[in-house]
Amino acid sequence: MPAFAFDNSYTRLPERLFAPARPAGASEPFMFAFNSQLAEDLGLDVSWLEQNGAAIFSGSTSPEGAANIAMVYAGHQFGQFNPQLGDGRAMLLGEVVSPQGRRYDIQLKGSGPTLFSRNGDGRAALGPVMREYIVSEAMHALGVPTTRSLAAVATGDAVYRETALPGAVVTRVATSHIRVGTFQYFAARQDVEAVKALADHAIARHYPELEGREHPYLGLLQAVIRRQAALIAKWMGIGFIHGVMNTDNMAISGETIDFGPCAFLDVYSARKVFSSIDRNGRYAYANQPAIGQWNLARLAEALLPLINEDQEAAVAAANTAITGYGEIFQDEWMTVMRAKLGLGEARESDLTLIQSLLSMMEEGQADFTRTFRALYTVAQSDAADAAFRSEFADPQKAQSWLNDWRDRTAEDSIEPTVRAEQMRNTNPAIIPRNHRIEEAIRAAEDDGDFSLFGALHAALADPYSDRPEFERYQAAPLPHEEVPRTFCGT
Ligand code: AMP
Ligand code: MG
Repeated sequence: MPAFAFDNSYTRLPERLFAPARPAGASEPFMFAFNSQLAEDLGLDVSWLEQNGAAIFSGSTSPEGAANIAMVYAGHQFGQFNPQLGDGRAMLLGEVVSPQGRRYDIQLKGSGPTLFSRNGDGRAALGPVMREYIVSEAMHALGVPTTRSLAAVATGDAVYRETALPGAVVTRVATSHIRVGTFQYFAARQDVEAVKALADHAIARHYPELEGREHPYLGLLQAVIRRQAALIAKWMGIGFIHGVMNTDNMAISGETIDFGPCAFLDVYSARKVFSSIDRNGRYAYANQPAIGQWNLARLAEALLPLINEDQEAAVAAANTAITGYGEIFQDEWMTVMRAKLGLGEARESDLTLIQSLLSMMEEGQADFTRTFRALYTVAQSDAADAAFRSEFADPQKAQSWLNDWRDRTAEDSIEPTVRAEQMRNTNPAIIPRNHRIEEAIRAAEDDGDFSLFGALHAALADPYSDRPEFERYQAAPLPHEEVPRTFCGT
């Protein structure tokens, strides 16, 4: 029996959507992370992979029936259109259908050059691979749609960036790797036939309810808009900054994808940027909702010829859909924030209450995650006000906000215990803080020590629980521990 029951639907699409790829292999593959639970959920042979994962997930051995392709795409990078990108260091191993009947891509990232590598080496360094593994799995545990990580293998080969670094390959699992940029690639070449093939494939895979509709492609645009609005609202709720929201890094499925220089807020700042290459703050925390809309407008443009044969009618329909994003996002964001504050029935004044908390956090240099978690403890026990106040530079002002919040929650009919439970499950205790990720990377890179990686991963598996053994992962960084910059590592 083959190790994987691959069913590669993407390779049945027109050949110009992809190119054959061959993994470069690894001289000394060492699998330092294997997600056996995910493997089981995918219906894979867990014990066989525990034995053979290093060879398979480094690309040293190609399993029977593998797709071995790199997907082509284009994309707007920091607002500039690049007509030719594609999987430059990734290779689709194949698609599997889980026992629940869901289709997933299994992709190696960092497995060697492809036809789309341009000047890149097709490799990934250990640090970014660890970051992707940690953050993607944390996002999943936090309840945010995301690509997953199935395995991470150190290759034993060096990759050359500013210095020589240990190389690694991460095995990513996604409901698909179709990006806004995939549509843009063919739209830019006026290859409407390919755009249509891709759209039909995306609908079948992600939005089957649209099949047979009168306007399936407008429906596709609207559906992606809804998923992205919901996704970005979730990011905002946990203080996640993607860092490179280029259109090639936005998935049609609505999953978070391409964890590069991403990071979570410590101290709250709306303008916060971690990525070293985001010099103008295009992808700053508070810009993410608007950038989401901008990217979706690029998707709309690519879909125009399918939306309506009459160009004017197509533009009008697409515009209405894109304009609608604003309200959809605002509703999603309010839902997220009201849950974080434990508010029951919607009140008009809720937005003001939320905004006054955020501006007070910004002025008071409050830690985003700790402040909201403290608010949950206040909901749990009246004795916890001091913990909340202590997050702020101006404790008195914080107390006055807390009094307003208490007056507001007193108007709701929800039971206090139900409210506290809701707040516990929307205000995480543990997030993958940048300094903890860096610390784990340092230990692995410098000493081959993966114990901090393992501990961080374990802490993040249940982010909504307070567990004394993981207290160090709840603490904000001390000034000397702060890691203000992240790098793509490409
Ligand atoms: P990213 O910023 O990681 O989303 O990558 C942008 C584009 O650069 C994608 O087409 C990648 O496949 C490509 N790329 C990134 N790193 C490398 C690399 N080391 N070798 C080849 N291509 C790369
Ligand atoms: Mg990318």
